Amino acid sequence: MQTSELDKQKTSWHSEPVESSLEELKSSTSGLEEQEAQARLEKNGPNRLPEAEKRSVLISFLLHFHNILIYVLLGSAFITAVLGHWIDTGVILAVVVANAIMGFIQEGKAEKAMDAIRQMLAPRANVIRGGDRASIEGEKLVPGDIVLLEAGDKVPADLRLLSVHGMSVQEAILTGESVPVQKQTKAVAADAALGDRLCMAFSGTLVVAGQGKGVVVATAGNTEIGRISHLLSEVETLSTPLVKQMSVFAKWLTVLILCIAAILLLYGYFVANTAFADLFMAVVGLSVAAIPEGLPAILTITLAVGVQAMARRQVIVRRLPAIETLGAVSVICSDKTGTLTRNEMLVTSVLTSEHLFSLEGEGYKPEGMLSLDDSHVSPADYGVLDQLARAAALCNDAALHEKDGQWQAEGDPMEGALLAFAGKMGMELRKGQKDWTRTDAIPFDAQYRFMATLNHDQNQNAFVFVKGAPERILSMCQQQMGIDGTEQALDSDYWQQQAEAIAAKGQRLLAFALKAMPAEHKVLQHQDVEASLTLLGMAGMSDPPRPEAITAIAECYEAGIRVKMITGDHAKTAAAIGRQIGLQNPDKVLTGADLDAMDDQALSASVLDCDIFARTSPEHKLRLVTALQAHDMTVAMTGDGVNDAPALKRADAGIAMGLKGSEAAKEAAELVLADDNFASIVAAVREGRTVYANLKKVISWTLPTNAGEAMVIIVALLLGIALPITPVQILWINLVTAITLGIALAFEPTEDHTMRRPPRPRSEPLLSAELIWHIIFVSLLFLAGVYGIYYFALERGYSMELAGTLALNTLVAMEIFHLFFIRNIYGTSLTWKAIRGTKVVWMVVIAVTAAQFAITYLPALQTVFATESVPFWDGVLVFAIGVALFAIVETEKQIRFAIRSKLNNH
Ligand code: ATP
Repeated sequence: MQTSELDKQKTSWHSEPVESSLEELKSSTSGLEEQEAQARLEKNGPNRLPEAEKRSVLISFLLHFHNILIYVLLGSAFITAVLGHWIDTGVILAVVVANAIMGFIQEGKAEKAMDAIRQMLAPRANVIRGGDRASIEGEKLVPGDIVLLEAGDKVPADLRLLSVHGMSVQEAILTGESVPVQKQTKAVAADAALGDRLCMAFSGTLVVAGQGKGVVVATAGNTEIGRISHLLSEVETLSTPLVKQMSVFAKWLTVLILCIAAILLLYGYFVANTAFADLFMAVVGLSVAAIPEGLPAILTITLAVGVQAMARRQVIVRRLPAIETLGAVSVICSDKTGTLTRNEMLVTSVLTSEHLFSLEGEGYKPEGMLSLDDSHVSPADYGVLDQLARAAALCNDAALHEKDGQWQAEGDPMEGALLAFAGKMGMELRKGQKDWTRTDAIPFDAQYRFMATLNHDQNQNAFVFVKGAPERILSMCQQQMGIDGTEQALDSDYWQQQAEAIAAKGQRLLAFALKAMPAEHKVLQHQDVEASLTLLGMAGMSDPPRPEAITAIAECYEAGIRVKMITGDHAKTAAAIGRQIGLQNPDKVLTGADLDAMDDQALSASVLDCDIFARTSPEHKLRLVTALQAHDMTVAMTGDGVNDAPALKRADAGIAMGLKGSEAAKEAAELVLADDNFASIVAAVREGRTVYANLKKVISWTLPTNAGEAMVIIVALLLGIALPITPVQILWINLVTAITLGIALAFEPTEDHTMRRPPRPRSEPLLSAELIWHIIFVSLLFLAGVYGIYYFALERGYSMELAGTLALNTLVAMEIFHLFFIRNIYGTSLTWKAIRGTKVVWMVVIAVTAAQFAITYLPALQTVFATESVPFWDGVLVFAIGVALFAIVETEKQIRFAIRSKLNNH
């Protein structure tokens, strides 16, 4: 039978013994051969859930017309048509359609970008293929593959479990039951409900503890989750609290303006007896002028641009509001291993009961020189090294591969380094692992800080091998192994002193111990390893700091952001690394035990001036986040393990590791670091600040523009004078030039000094007094500019059309100069860099200028927009008014800055 047919029909794997499942799937515990896996992949297709149905293109396009303003405009088009103003009807309709097309294209681009970013989060699976451990894309799994699971993994396909070690799985996604289920390998009744199929692990569920291994029985749509996946399609909207707030604001503003417009219409018609047709067009013009119709769309684009910029900096945004939070981060709590350091481990010191050896080598290559007191020695001369190597290789879940002369580690880099160490001690890794089969194991758990395996050889010798944090292992030992391989009484003081000295060099230390077991002992339990172990020795590993992390930490300090290292490692190691990476306060270290001894008040008092927390467990992270938040700090926290999820959720910005992080951590986090690098967090904070500044710039530019235009019309209506700018022209300005210009702000690069300012307080309102003042000030300038040139033109005897054309162009010129001003809200706009602008700014300015020339000088468009050609010197005057606006607002800004810095100095 074909596998593809087979897994479609069969759902009774849980009621069969493991062996028959393997047989039926034509697989074995050493997995499929690569070729067979490829063939099955072709036959079965990728292990991908059918995608949720998306909105059709037509509906997406039509939704751009679903907006109060558009309804008003369509209504106006209808009324103008009834009144016989065909040109007006045409312009209104053209503008409405152009607006929808532009919104549709931009939204499509933003969505595509988001999809691409989601792809970056595609999960991976650890499998055994052709007898070797490998990490492959989850999509490449096929029925028959052997999958390895550990705490924090998301099960990548439906599995019949072959072995489990204390493995429990949270299956809420399928069963609704949030209490994790303890898994086993024994078959269950054929009619067992999903939640009772204890020998199965289902795709999409989360391993919360232990380890396990299973054979894939169903992939993609054939999995249990695949059958119900249509229920799970969750669509995230491209929004953040700020953007939502602005959309709501824009909606209310729209309603308010429409009410004012209606009142003006009634007043004009019944009280002032103005002709309906003129009045109606003026009121439509007012509505269009005052409503910031482009604002929500431009804000969304700004977010999408920010998300893409972060993705380029290796930060994947899972929840959009995090972008805003990132800009306000005031403290970053970071893991050490792999984030601040490179996670490129190399065993460099080996400590035994008598000697401290040093070891050279390169990467994971299992060859290198051993020295003692600066002279080379042979491992074979020291019996204990052989035992140490065996413990390192057997109590280990990693694998080493050689590819094009390069040695690579599969699994935990630290365990990879231990394999390389065992190789350097002369051990044949594969043979050793084959001779000593693993019968059972206690997987590593950050809570206990050790890992143990039970191994049997062919001669029925059995040993437990244990590795873990030195102080932990020491507490489990009673003997130590002498250099010649004989047991002696444990000299705890010696080990402790030596261990501290090695840790103080910044090395990560691991101790190894063993214990002989009766041959019939096949199940390993915690009590088997709790006491009377024999200590073999310790290995010190170097893990150099990332140079870019050092620079990034310095950048954080400049930006008023504190950095805290929260690590599971030893206090001395952590302090040494803290010093190397330039933490402000590397001498004060609090350990997990210290934290346990403190109540919340004491913790709150010490949390600010301590930068290093060592030997912590995930619960401590949660307490630290809470303590920092109590000081009103905005906390970014990194995490990788399944138990880090609560702290990640609690933090203002939870950041999971993309490479070494578990799926559980990624799901709990708002952001995922594709490269696990601390420098990327800081880059994300910079982007976060940039995005927030750009959102603010978009708003600070758009609102005064709208207010200014609206005031031009209101003043005319109230004074009962002719409109300097006709309603059709207003429509043009607002829906074509304003939106085009506004989009440029979404692409603004990071301003200089962005990372030299303290973080923004989260409570800072967006519509601050300063912004409201800016809106009023600029609107008044717009008003003065438009009326100024209009009356100047009339006075010179120009026609109303020419005066109007001048007013129209002046308004657009002022918008452009205002745009240049807004680009630097925090610094001066009068630097060469500011004036040179960016490509996007110049593109939109050139496009808008060209469009203005077209409606001013092209005869066909002159008819449509009621414009006249502007004489050269009057054109220069228009430009000069723009320059004057720029000069005035810039001077006002500089005065404001000067006053503020004076006040601050006092
Ligand atoms: P960080 O939190 O900065 O990533 P970490 O990796 O040292 O630090 P944990 O993974 O919690 O934090 O490890 C804590 C300690 O447990 C380590 O310092 C080490 O002594 C021990 N340890 C880590 N991994 C293993 C393992 N696979 N087997 C045995 N012991 C381990």
